[in-house]
Amino acid sequence: MSKRGIIAVISGFSGAGKGTIVNRLVEKYGYVVSVSATTRSPRQGEIEGQSYFYKTTEEFEKMIEEDALIEYAKYVDNYYGTPKEYVLSQVEQGKDVLLEIEMQGALKVREKFPEVSLIFITPPSMKELRRRLEGRGTETPEVIEKRMARAREECAYLSQYDYIVVNDRLDECVERMHRLLQSVHHTRQNQRDLIENITKDFDQYV
Ligand code: 5GP
Repeated sequence: MSKRGIIAVISGFSGAGKGTIVNRLVEKYGYVVSVSATTRSPRQGEIEGQSYFYKTTEEFEKMIEEDALIEYAKYVDNYYGTPKEYVLSQVEQGKDVLLEIEMQGALKVREKFPEVSLIFITPPSMKELRRRLEGRGTETPEVIEKRMARAREECAYLSQYDYIVVNDRLDECVERMHRLLQSVHHTRQNQRDLIENITKDFDQYV
């Protein structure tokens, strides 16, 4: 029986709290998170190789050329991309891997791997979204406006997601996400097992 993990893409409006949720899922339940490459500058407290792999534009474009990324996108003036090798090797080893990426990237991952689950995290209201972005204090007012405008545009693509999860209370949201991911994992696993059995069964009669 194959024991592969799943890939779950987690997107959400910037400020929806998806980073915190992903960190909790990793710490509490042992999910693996993919570390992206980006050309944006590190924020206070971010760590190279843990938060992101920070790249120059030239370095990033070289990764694109060498086909080292599962997907990449430009988001508010910077490149972001998912290194391929790490994600695929972890899935092969049976780990469930979370990709915390924005929408264009999410849809590209689905094109390459149709079986991925796309999960979208939203705050309870857009008033709350703005409050969280401003409260974070890490972005200039101009960048906050750009991120809010981007969030409004993203509404057009929400129907492409398999699940939309409201991040109202953090602890509850983490538990809901875990149950959802477990359910996807087991459904996929059962499907693969069944397909394997049906195929083997056929081999006796064909
Ligand atoms: P931030 O600058 O706030 O860390 O991230 C900005 C946006 O880029 C977020 O929506 C985040 O999920 C997304 N992002 C982070 N890594 C990747 C990636 O590897 N690929 C894509 N397409 N988006 C990413």
